[in-house]
This record gives sequence, C-alpha cells and structure tokens, in this order.
Amino acid sequence: MIDNQWYQLKTEEVIEKLNSNENVGLNFHQVQALQKTFGLNQLPEGKQRSIFSIFIHQFLSPLIYLLIIAALIAVFLGDYKDALVIIIVVVLNSLIGAFQEGKAEKSLAALKKLTHLKTRVLRDKEEKEIDAYDLVPGDIILLNAGDAIPSDARVISASNARVAEAALTGESLPVEKSSAVIIKKTSLADRKNMVYAGTHITSGRLKVIVTSIGKDNEIGKIAHLTTSTKQSKTQLELKIHQFGKKIAIVSVILFILVLVIGLIRGIAFNEIFMIAVSQMVSLVPEGLPVALTIALAVGVQRMAKKGTVVRKLSAVETLGSTTIICTDKTGTLTKNEMTVTKIYLALSDQEINVEGVGYEPNGKLLVTSSSAELDQMLLALILCNDSTLIPPDESHAQWSILGDPTEAALLTLALKAGIDITQLKKAHPRISEIPFDSETKMMCTKNGSSVYIKGAPEELLSLAGFLKTDKKNKILNKAQEMADQALRVLAVGYIPNAHIDLEKSYSFFQDQVIFLGLVGQLDPPRDEVKRSVKRCLEAGIRPVMVTGDHKATGLTIAKSLGISKPNDLAVDGAELELMSDKELHEKIDTISVFARVHPAQKMRIVNTFQEKGNIVAMTGDGVNDAPALVKANVGVAMGMTGTEVAKEAAKIVITDDNFSTIVAAIAEGRLVYQNIKKLLLFLFVTSIDEVIVLFLALISGYPPPLAAVQILWINLVAEGALTINLIMEPAEGDEMKRSPVPINEPLLNSPLLKRIPLMVIASVTSTYGWFIYRTSMDVPMNQVQTETFTVLILSQWFNVLNCRSETRSALSWSLLKNPYLIGGLALANVMQFLVIYWRPLGSFFHTVPIPMTEFFKVGMVSSLVLWVEEIRKYFIRKKQKMPSA
Ligand code: ATP
Repeated sequence: MIDNQWYQLKTEEVIEKLNSNENVGLNFHQVQALQKTFGLNQLPEGKQRSIFSIFIHQFLSPLIYLLIIAALIAVFLGDYKDALVIIIVVVLNSLIGAFQEGKAEKSLAALKKLTHLKTRVLRDKEEKEIDAYDLVPGDIILLNAGDAIPSDARVISASNARVAEAALTGESLPVEKSSAVIIKKTSLADRKNMVYAGTHITSGRLKVIVTSIGKDNEIGKIAHLTTSTKQSKTQLELKIHQFGKKIAIVSVILFILVLVIGLIRGIAFNEIFMIAVSQMVSLVPEGLPVALTIALAVGVQRMAKKGTVVRKLSAVETLGSTTIICTDKTGTLTKNEMTVTKIYLALSDQEINVEGVGYEPNGKLLVTSSSAELDQMLLALILCNDSTLIPPDESHAQWSILGDPTEAALLTLALKAGIDITQLKKAHPRISEIPFDSETKMMCTKNGSSVYIKGAPEELLSLAGFLKTDKKNKILNKAQEMADQALRVLAVGYIPNAHIDLEKSYSFFQDQVIFLGLVGQLDPPRDEVKRSVKRCLEAGIRPVMVTGDHKATGLTIAKSLGISKPNDLAVDGAELELMSDKELHEKIDTISVFARVHPAQKMRIVNTFQEKGNIVAMTGDGVNDAPALVKANVGVAMGMTGTEVAKEAAKIVITDDNFSTIVAAIAEGRLVYQNIKKLLLFLFVTSIDEVIVLFLALISGYPPPLAAVQILWINLVAEGALTINLIMEPAEGDEMKRSPVPINEPLLNSPLLKRIPLMVIASVTSTYGWFIYRTSMDVPMNQVQTETFTVLILSQWFNVLNCRSETRSALSWSLLKNPYLIGGLALANVMQFLVIYWRPLGSFFHTVPIPMTEFFKVGMVSSLVLWVEEIRKYFIRKKQKMPSA
C-alpha cells in the first residue's frame, strides 16, 4: 500500500487492510509477527564512533602536532631514544584519552535510552502503555492532549482534536483532525484524517490506527533527521574551552622564555628545546574537556538512580546553580491521592462530611437522608468523569485507579453513597465532551440531552447566570472555607435539555448552568517534602509554589511545608494580571504562592525571577506549560502525570513527580561542579610546580632539574591515572549547606585561588629544595633528576588527596569511598616503580634506580604539601567548628 493513499480510504477499509480491530486492537501473535517483518518504530541510529576512530581523533590536536614536530627534530638531531619516547608518550596519552572519551560517549548513549517515548495502545482488548518503538502497523493508539504522536496513523475517531504539525509542515497553528475520508489527492498538510510522527496533539482526544513506522514515517523520509547523541556545549564546557585558550597563550610565552633563558645559560639547543616543548605541552590541560564530559555523564547516571532523567546535559550544571524552584503543588508537593471529605449542596445550603481515606470505598456520607439534589450531583460527578476505579485483584493489593486522581476520588464517593456506577454510565451514554484543560479549569460531557460540567468554582459560577449575587458570594465563601482547610475544591453543575454543540467553547453555556454544589478533596502533602524544603532553604534556594489550584488551598499547604513564611504573600492569577511588571519585580521576592495561574502567566513569573538574576527551575506537566519549561533555566517535567510535549520541552524529567527528587538532583548538580573544581585545582597546581621548579633552576644557573621526557611522563601519563578518579569523588555531604554557585563565576574562583599558593609553595619547596640539596652533595645528575622527578610525582599523589576536600582531613577513611582513586594511586605507583626500576623503560626516561633509603626520604620530603594543607584545614575547621572527617 502506498502510504499517501491511506487518507483516501474509509476507516473501516484501513482497519481491514491492516488486519486490525477498532475495539480489540492487534493480538500478541500479530504484534510478534509484524515486529519481525517491520522491525522497531525508530529512526536509523546516528552512527556510533568506533573506539579506533576515537583513538585516531586524539591525534588531531595542535599539541600532538607539536610533539610530533619535536620528535622529528629529535630524530634530526640524532636523539632517537627521545624521539621514540615522545611517540610512546603520545600513543599512551591518546589511548588514555580514547578510553575516557569512549566511556563518556557510552554514558551519553545510555542517557538517550532513558528518554524513550511512551504511548497508550489497545492490544488484546486491553489498554496498555508501551514504549513507542514497539508499535507496529495496525496498532490502535489512544492519544490525549499533550501526547506526542509516535508514528504515522489514520484517524479512527476524533474529539475536538487539534494537532500541532509545525515540525513537519511548517503550519504554525494547530490543525483540527477528523476521521472523514478525503477523496481528492491532497498534500501532507491538508490530510485532516492523518496524524504524523514528530507532531503532537494540543487538545482533545484521538483514536488512530498506525499505518507506518520507523523510517517509513514521513519524518523518517527527511534524510538528515537521524537520531544522534550529540548535545550542544554546556556553560562549563564553554568556560573550560576558553580557559584552555588562555592557557595556550601563556604556554607559548613560557616556551619562548624557557628557550631564551636556557640558551643564554648555555644549555645545548636540543636539550632546552625539548624541555621547552614538553613544558609547553604539559601546561595545557588537554584532558580537562573529556574529564568534564565524564563528570557530567557520571552526574547523569547518579541522578538517574535517584529518579531524574536528564534530557539536556547542560541541566546538570545549571541545576547546581539553581536559586529558585517554581513548583506545582498537586502531585509534586502533595501525594495526588485524593479523598472527598466534604460536599456542599448549593440549593439546600447543606454541608455533608464524608468518612474514609483513599480510594477504598469504605466510609459513609454523614447525611440523614438522601435527596434528589445529592443524587443529581453524584450523577454529574460520575458522568463527567474519565477515570476508572479498580478493586483489589491479583496484581493490586489495594484499590487502585486509572486516570486522574481528582476524578477517581469522585467515583469512590459515589460507591460510598451506594451507587452502581456501571449501571448509571450505561443508562446515560456519553455523546460528546470537552476534556479538562488547565487553561479553562473545567470539563464537560453531554450525556443524552443533558450537559454535565465540573471545574474551578469561580469559572463555573461565571456560567451560572441564574444565581443571585448573594448566593454566588455565599458559594464563594464556602469554597474559600474549604480551601482554607487545604481542600481542593471542585464545583459541579448541569444543563438539562441542552441544545448545545460541544464543539463550541464554554462561552455558549453562559447563563445556562444550574449550579449543584461543591466537592472538597483532601490531598495530603508528601511526607518527605518538608525536609526537602528545609534542605533548599539551607542551600540558599527558594521554593515557590505555582499552582492551578485555589489560593487558600495553596497557601495552607505552602505554610504547612515551610514554603510560605508568616509575612509572605500569595497572589492569584487575576491579581497577577492587574500587577504591572514594575510592581511584580518589586514584590516577587516576598511572594511564595502563585495560585490559579494560567500556563501563560508562568512565563511571566519565570521571566521576572530571571530578570532579578535568578537561575530558575520550573516544573510543568501540561501542553501549555511547554513555553515556560523552555524559558526556565531548568525545565522540569513530570514523568508520571506529564504530557509528552512537556517532557520534550523540559531539560529534566523526574520519574516520580516528587519535589524531593528535584532537590536531590540539585545536590548532584552541585557535586559535579565541586568535583570539576577539585580536578582543576589538582591539575593547575601540578603544572605551576613544574614551571616554577624549572625556572628557578634556569635562573640560578643549575642544570635542568628534570629531563624533557620526564616532564611529558608526569603530565601525559602519570597525571592521566589520577584525573578521572577525582571526578568520581562521592558527595562530602555539605553540598546543600552552601549558597548556589553563580553560573557566571570564573573557573578559578577565589576559594580555589586562595588554596593554590600554599600548595605550590609547599610542593616547590620540597621539589626544588631536594634538587638543590642533592646537587650540592655531588650526586650524579642522572640520579638527582630521577629523585626530583619522583619528588614531584609523589607530591602530586599527596596533593590529589588534599584536593578531595576543602576542609576535611585527607587522612580519613573516606578515601575508601572512592575506589577509583585508590585504583588510580595504585596504578600510578606501579608505573612509577617501572619507570625507575625497570631498566628498559628507565633508560628511555633518563632515570636511574634510586637506593631504597633515598626513596623513603624522597617520600617523606614529598609529603610536605600534605602536612601543610592538613594544618590549614585544621585551622579552618576550628574556626568553623566543623568535625574532621
Ligand atoms: P498544580 O498546577 O499545582 O498541579 P492543580 O493540579 O490543582 O495544581 P490544575 O490541574 O490546573 O492545577 O487544576 C486547577 C483547578 O481545576 C483545580 O483547582 C480544580 O478546581 C479544577 N480541576 C482539576 N482537575 C479537574 C478535572 N479533572 N475536571 C474538572 N476540573 C478540574
């Protein structure tokens, strides 16, 4: 079948041709057979680079070119051994680089797997959620507002459905869909009875049958759109890139200086040239960008374990700098487990309490006798409802629900009142509907000749023109009273004998709705959220509630969780509308609850916070939340209740919809940043040490304290064994006790700059001191160089321990928590022994075996940097009254 003919067939014909069934879907065997024939519903994977090509890529860097030139010059000057060493070092360095980069790429590919699209299908008569890549032609899919369309499909039935197809056709407005057959040949954009992969449904519902999958989808035909794991550069990556550039300039200046001073001092050209090149190459932290990618990827994995799926790598570091979290209430701060506890009947002005907790229909309506008014209200609540209540069975030990908890709680209420829900639904079949939308805050259905409607009290009251003003006020007061008790309030009404076309908007209902009453639902706060709010406040992050719910409900819950302080303001959408930008700018720091906000207003809130210099994380779940999610520095979509559109717009998705998960992700983001800083400190100090030791020797007329190849070994081989390991440092536990790091803070910030001089002075003292001391004892130069080389390397090992914490002692058991570092140190030890005591290697690196007694002395001298830092840390801890471990 040629794809573009599906729209010219009647739905029955399409279903028949695809061997499917509208009400049953495909069966298990059909799906298996079709998957064998058609494969998975995915675009061809972007080509993964092989480890060999990553390895070759390592050679494409100016530094390596320079080293190769140095090797050629060495050959030219007859230093074949040095030339060989340079080549070996380059290859070793490239191997380490390729291994690390390969690891980083793998982690990134794994990250992509976490963000697979889900979809609801009808198979074997059952509705189930599956991964979209498992779809086959003939599958019946059920789509709601906010769902991404997972493959090309023909519409079977549509209810007020609009689809945004801009990604495919360029049409900026959502297109209305219907099942009607199209006889004439039309272009893609005009096929109203087809939906296409890569687009999404903005409103209404659709039932469709999959006509093609994977590369046969229209989007698959656009050749360049293969899935790739490439991510754009993050802030930190850019900073490191710029930092690298600056260092490169400094290293060129140093190269010239070393060469000139060396020549003036009468050192042979070939020797000083090699030293100058090695020095220059060593200064550039070429491993840093890869180390950063690994740090981010490791952060992503840690976050995934705690329920956060990172869609954009940049979110990891932005999370660490977050200063404001704008969070939804329902489901994020609260459990989203609704129980109706109060009913208010408007006509008789009667309040009814309801017993019981949860979805189990255990408990009674505390009312003396049933009334027609109550029955009518319960009828509306059952009919204007899309949820299902499931009694306990083999797979569910307790009563469970399908659909919206707000609606399911209404069914529990009906069961408590003794109503047969199935019977009632059968007697009043649904003709049409307007699904719930957080913009209108209402939903309605037409069953028989009546329309049933439920939604936010203010909205419903505005349609109830029959009501007198004082009655309206009374109802509003009642709603306020319920909201003050933290209840979520729904209003219910109906229109008997309605001659209304539900395709039209609510404005056509004006003055027709008979107001039945209010329902108050309890949605308890999540147990762990109070602690997380406290953690945020300690970490200098302000949580702000942005809810679609009533102001009083929001405020009561915000107060109970510690989000609202006594003098904080709560503002609702209408009040926000009246506020000028200037006024909002002035007041926003004291507003902790934004209630009844429209999704569009979320943008304004984010914007104002950002104008005040904040880094904003914002949660969202609906289609209309997408712009605000994009605008926020970190858009956070809800994994459970969020629409696919929201997930695609967000940088992270939290799988359990829980506020505490966002806070845990922030802590991980901060850890990544801290570990990068630790690594930077370590690399920087090592490089400065070498430069200073070399310069001191050159200026004071000593021979070079290290051979050129030894400098290369230190930086390109020995250091490689330790860098990545520092990135793996576990949390110190104080990540959330500090203020957020400003996003534009320079890489070498002041706490880091303050630590550098002490470390440098200590390690230069031991290295240079040992060099002078041994030279003065007339020890052969080969041995002095080997010992100086060893002091420098050992100082590095001690310093890597120092860099693990700014305040904690390096001499604690916590080292065991980073097995990577222990492994790295062990490897570094073995390598150092080999380069000194294994003659074949030693002869290449100009080393001679050091007597064991000297080796121990060298070890002691090198540890100076550790003791100096220990003393500094001790005084800092004493000043800050902190424990040592
Ligand atoms: P948050 O944005 O914090 O998650 P929310 O979930 O309460 O808050 P919405 O889902 O937009 O925000 O709901 C806003 C209001 O719409 C509710 O207070 C309620 O009055 C009404 N409402 C919610 N769900 C439904 C529904 N299924 N049918 C009709 N009205 C609803």
